[in-house]
Amino acid sequence: MTNDHLDQLELLHLDEADRVLCVVAHPDDLEYGVSAAVAEWTDAGASVSYLLLTSGEAGIDSMSPDETGPARAAEQRNACAQVGVDDLRILDFPDGVLEYSLALRRAVAAVIREVRPTTLVTLGWAEEMPWGLNQADHRVAGLVVLDAARDAGNRWVFPDITGSDGEVLERWQADHLLVFGASRPTHAVAVSPNSVERSIASLEQHKVYLAALDDHPAPRDLIGGVTSDAGARAGVDHAVAFGRYGL
Ligand SMILES: [Zn+2]
Repeated sequence: MTNDHLDQLELLHLDEADRVLCVVAHPDDLEYGVSAAVAEWTDAGASVSYLLLTSGEAGIDSMSPDETGPARAAEQRNACAQVGVDDLRILDFPDGVLEYSLALRRAVAAVIREVRPTTLVTLGWAEEMPWGLNQADHRVAGLVVLDAARDAGNRWVFPDITGSDGEVLERWQADHLLVFGASRPTHAVAVSPNSVERSIASLEQHKVYLAALDDHPAPRDLIGGVTSDAGARAGVDHAVAFGRYGL
């Protein structure tokens, strides 16, 4: 076979010196595989923060956004608890109609300068993903993270961003960007059976959201499939695949 999608993935390790910031559009976006790697990282002592750009308030057809936003934020907090994440931040950009903007880049750069991650994680921003056509907010979120990663590292871009104490935050350059759903994954995080279980549990916390979807696969089948496919490409039982880019 010459298909480069079947190339062997290089194993990637993070340790207690690493700080990870995962940035996505919606509650649940990190629960389709990324959270298995997060469980592994928090077990290793790395600190992991989640930043959601919206509260996913337009995600449930049968519920009003006023009800849905708080319900999904609560479900996300429960999902975070399964994989050792205490720091969950949710911005109030509009779900479903998220726009690429300097305001959004600035908001993400602000959190990067505050959290000071060594590693940023987001989802792929291509029109076409390995599992189908990509969603509008997901395309915007991934591209904004790519750009805000550079913005945060440039002292002349958004120079007046302040922290909670009112002081100007210094520039911060993360080392790497990990993209889940990248068209050409390069690396994989090996995950233990326990991390797979915790990841399944994290997806299961999105109870109201999943109950409103007609034909959603069982979390166990979904996460089991994703992590064993990536594991096969990395020479381990279970893994999470990422495209890894130096920043
Ligand atoms: Zn989403």
